[in-house]
Amino acid sequence: MKLNAFTDVCLRVLMTLGRDAGTKLTTQQIADRIAVPYNHVVKAVGELRRRGLVDVARGRTGGAVITEAGLDQRIGRLVHELTTRPEMVDCTGLESGVPCPLRDGCGLRLALARARDAFYAELDQYRVRDLTAHNETFLGLPAVGRPAPGSPADRPDAIPA
Ligand code: SF4
Repeated sequence: MKLNAFTDVCLRVLMTLGRDAGTKLTTQQIADRIAVPYNHVVKAVGELRRRGLVDVARGRTGGAVITEAGLDQRIGRLVHELTTRPEMVDCTGLESGVPCPLRDGCGLRLALARARDAFYAELDQYRVRDLTAHNETFLGLPAVGRPAPGSPADRPDAIPA
């Protein structure tokens, strides 16, 4: 499955704020950190605020800060809710205008729907607070810029790239 761009930006914003929970960041600071255009971040912050996942203070000393609900947000649920395309394949012709002639009783459609549900269920094991830089060991992931433990690049004699 591929996340839509808006969902990806929302997740980047949440993780960025989650890394500095309690710290206010301006929209421009967030945009710089996640390498996303300012206007896209404005839209994402607005959506996250509407959901109660971030607080936004206006004015010269304003900025966005993640809420407890934001830190506890389950990833699968959020991705599901932000996904605008309900099916993995356009079986009903919503986008193309041409419904698939095989859709009645299609086993592949059912299998894809189950795979999609499993995808969300797997993501739902993680909250935003689990995905911040400080919790990479919890996930068994290497920190950004660091090789995975046990990988060839992690060997003491490895030559830095
Ligand atoms: S073959 Fe099945 S899964 Fe593929 S588009 Fe048609 S109905 Fe959907």
